[in-house]
Amino acid sequence: MSENELNSPGYDIPPELQGQVAITTLDRLYNWGRRSSVWPLMFGLACCAIEMIVSQASRYDLSRFGMEVMRPSPRQSDLLLISGTVTKKMVPLLVRLYNQMPEPKYVVAMGACASGGGPFKEGYNVVSGIDRYLPVDVYIPGCPPTPQALINGLIRLQEKIDKQSIKQVPWYRKEPIEAIPIPILGPDLIDPRKIPQIKNRKAQEG
Ligand code: SF4
Repeated sequence: MSENELNSPGYDIPPELQGQVAITTLDRLYNWGRRSSVWPLMFGLACCAIEMIVSQASRYDLSRFGMEVMRPSPRQSDLLLISGTVTKKMVPLLVRLYNQMPEPKYVVAMGACASGGGPFKEGYNVVSGIDRYLPVDVYIPGCPPTPQALINGLIRLQEKIDKQSIKQVPWYRKEPIEAIPIPILGPDLIDPRKIPQIKNRKAQEG
């Protein structure tokens, strides 16, 4: 980080001390450390995953962003990177993995399918966007998005991290963060959060 970026409150530093002294905020330091060490939990589901894999190779090299370690384990990851078509069968697993990730955690929906169902929207087995179940931080458009688009999305995520404040982030509050209820897969996918609405509608229909 350059000295100008670090000195976010904008204090004047005497010329003789420039280069030795930096004045910054706790938020700035905290976010600087986090933004440069986001470890993704890869979740490749379809064709978009190939672009995600390419972005890790030498030509694009996600290591430059401190993201070189793609984890297959939720316990060591900060970012759930969902790339590809999300089927109803996969949603309970995705939500369970998200719940198992420690805070702070983020979700990136890579591609048209993960963001909104893509060409398979309204298909009998496809979810029209993972944001129906998980809080998505960044959507990356495209079918498939190029590795450059993925990198651009990850830079947007870093910008979001930069704006967070240690006083307001949910993971330092006294109240526990509730896990997202795991959807139930039967003949169709049921979101347990919508069960009261479903019952109401059923009652109205008689
Ligand atoms: S968005 Fe396009 S490329 Fe990506 S998984 Fe869907 S169909 Fe495949």
